[in-house]
Amino acid sequence: MDEQRRRHYLAVMGVQNWIPQAVDGVGSKGKATSPEAVVEVSQVLSAEEIPPWIDEVPPVGNERATGSEPDAAIPQGNPVSRLGWDGLSRQVAQCTACDLHAGRQHTVFGVGNREADLMVIGEAPGAEEDRQGEPFVGRAGQLLNAMLGAIGLRREQVYIANILKCRPPGNRDPRPEETLRCAPFLDRQIALVAPRVILTVGRIAAQNLLKSQEAVGRLRGKDAEFEGIPVIVTYHPAYLLRTPAQKARAWQDLQRVRKLLK
Ligand code: SF4
Repeated sequence: MDEQRRRHYLAVMGVQNWIPQAVDGVGSKGKATSPEAVVEVSQVLSAEEIPPWIDEVPPVGNERATGSEPDAAIPQGNPVSRLGWDGLSRQVAQCTACDLHAGRQHTVFGVGNREADLMVIGEAPGAEEDRQGEPFVGRAGQLLNAMLGAIGLRREQVYIANILKCRPPGNRDPRPEETLRCAPFLDRQIALVAPRVILTVGRIAAQNLLKSQEAVGRLRGKDAEFEGIPVIVTYHPAYLLRTPAQKARAWQDLQRVRKLLK
């Protein structure tokens, strides 16, 4: 990626500049040695260099960034672990395993490259995702695209999925029984994609995948894995839109992803 394009994506993320030596704060095994000090914003770009939608898009009430406790169980007799892509997407589309099926317009299966090196995992569909049947659309989706662009990846090059395939009403946190019922679908998607790296965005995704109750701020920057696949934890784009000060830390997480993919 050329320098101008990289700077554009960084500007979209709200990270105006970064200090390369700060990446050295991430140890040779990918473990953050000083996560709070790694990224610094040292130069402010002019307002014209930042795309207008960054400031103009309204609050993100329909986009998800929070959630509930994890659970590890899988529904009994579930054949999902043997399904291929077609069977899996059909089963998700017809799924009534939890109460969320009653209120959905569409299931949100997942999108992207089914042979991707990087898999991005979020929480659950918001209102717009429910309408369109695709994860990470709208303003948070635009920021996610910019975040991926900042490390040289287009949205179509990665695979994007959520912990839940149906929208919780009113964007409430997923309930344990819902994540429990839905987990086999994501497990199978991960097995089929077999990514080299997983990036979780937001608390729900990180807690469910890592079977942890820690906050994102405590999980990020640490070595973690799912079924032998390295997991990088970062903030949800919707949260970053509300809390731009954390974009520098998200950029640090993305650099860890880039380093693992090299
Ligand atoms: S959220 Fe998951 S388990 Fe619940 S109905 Fe939708 S696809 Fe099925």
